[in-house]
Amino acid sequence: MKVSVEDLKRKEMTVSEDIPAADWDMDSFDVKFLNDLHIVCKFFLAYKEVVADAQVTVNRKIICSRCLGEVCQIVKQNFIKSYEIDKLDKFLDIDKDIREEILLNFPLKVLCSSKCKGLCPGCGANLNIEACKCRDK
Ligand SMILES: [Zn+2]
Ligand SMILES: [Zn+2]
Repeated sequence: MKVSVEDLKRKEMTVSEDIPAADWDMDSFDVKFLNDLHIVCKFFLAYKEVVADAQVTVNRKIICSRCLGEVCQIVKQNFIKSYEIDKLDKFLDIDKDIREEILLNFPLKVLCSSKCKGLCPGCGANLNIEACKCRDK
């Protein structure tokens, strides 16, 4: 997402953009981003800084580290960045910062739900959907 600094000096702007997830190459083995990354950002001037107030909506498919189930999650996040106007060229491009914020928002432990019961270490049953069969043996 790129905005003209000249335009920003004149008026506040809200810009929205959908970016194909693959363009930003953020997938890891347990998190895949699905299309599209939806970004809405309000830009305004505050003294000598341009403030970018962004809301990012991502649709991600995770592999739960407890039960190995795949789950799709829609995650919204907000963040605010500011840029010194004197240090900007003609355009302000916030893509790199948005990408970074999305990556920082990765869950440390990927779980399908905080209540996930996981797999039984004995019989391998997915305890979210079936009962443990260890006793049957
Ligand atoms: Zn799970
Ligand atoms: Zn079991």
